[in-house]
Amino acid sequence: MRSIGPAWQWIAGAALAAAAVGSGVDAWYAHGIAVRTDARLAETDARLSALEADLSSTTAGLQSSIVATHASLANALSEERQNVGSLASQLGSYQQQFSTVSSTVSDLQKLQSIDPQLLEKYSKVYFLNENYMPAALAEIPDAYKYSDSKLEQVIPQVLPKLESMLDAASSSGALMYVASAYRSFDSQSNLKSQYTVVYGAGTANTFSADQGYSEHQLGTAVDLIAPGLGGQLDDRFAATGAYAWLTANAYRYGFTLSYPDNNPYYIYEPWHWRFVGVKLATYLHDSGKHLYDLDQRTIDGYLASIFD
Ligand SMILES: [Zn+2]
Repeated sequence: MRSIGPAWQWIAGAALAAAAVGSGVDAWYAHGIAVRTDARLAETDARLSALEADLSSTTAGLQSSIVATHASLANALSEERQNVGSLASQLGSYQQQFSTVSSTVSDLQKLQSIDPQLLEKYSKVYFLNENYMPAALAEIPDAYKYSDSKLEQVIPQVLPKLESMLDAASSSGALMYVASAYRSFDSQSNLKSQYTVVYGAGTANTFSADQGYSEHQLGTAVDLIAPGLGGQLDDRFAATGAYAWLTANAYRYGFTLSYPDNNPYYIYEPWHWRFVGVKLATYLHDSGKHLYDLDQRTIDGYLASIFD
């Protein structure tokens, strides 16, 4: 029979075993807690990381969306500014067009009432039509005429300019009078035939000729005469104070010397002054040119402003 030892040894052994088991349970139990805590911590960490990641991605998203919004607002603003700018420039160009159109309309309205013949250049081959008559004529008062007995007329728009010019000349001591103004085609024909009889056709064409006729038929040209010349229209007028005054001042009243000395167009007529409007006369005076130096197209540009 196998001996199992004394009873106390068995009890002690059992107790030891139990103790060993008991401490194993404790350790196992503690170990379990630690594992669970670690898991929770890891889980919490993961959540935190996820939250952090979320937060950072949300922040980045917000930032980029703010940047994008800002950029798109800035774009929209700049587009609006561009639109406003382009509208303003369009408006400006419309306004310019409108003002060009209205000045063109006003020029056209003026031109409707102005005979284009008034600024035409006449020559030995290009005369004013014999049927041309000014729409109206105004009588030059006696005080301005060389001869009281002779009716002298210019077109009504020219009369006040002529009077102002003669008044100003007279105030400066440069006395001069109108010897001849408007002449109808018929009266010129008569005058010319008289010359023709006296001098023969060739001479009549040179000195009483057609260019000057045409200008007188317009009702805008005047022959001026100074005292002391015996009532003659000749080159001596060029030596008078009246002529010097006209050369310096007539443009202010719209008058210009049609046929200056040594011109290639017609005989020298220092006494013959034609109304072409203040604007054109001023241009001619300032540029040292004469009407017949300009081409007709250039002259036509001044027609609308002839009575300004
Ligand atoms: Zn004349």
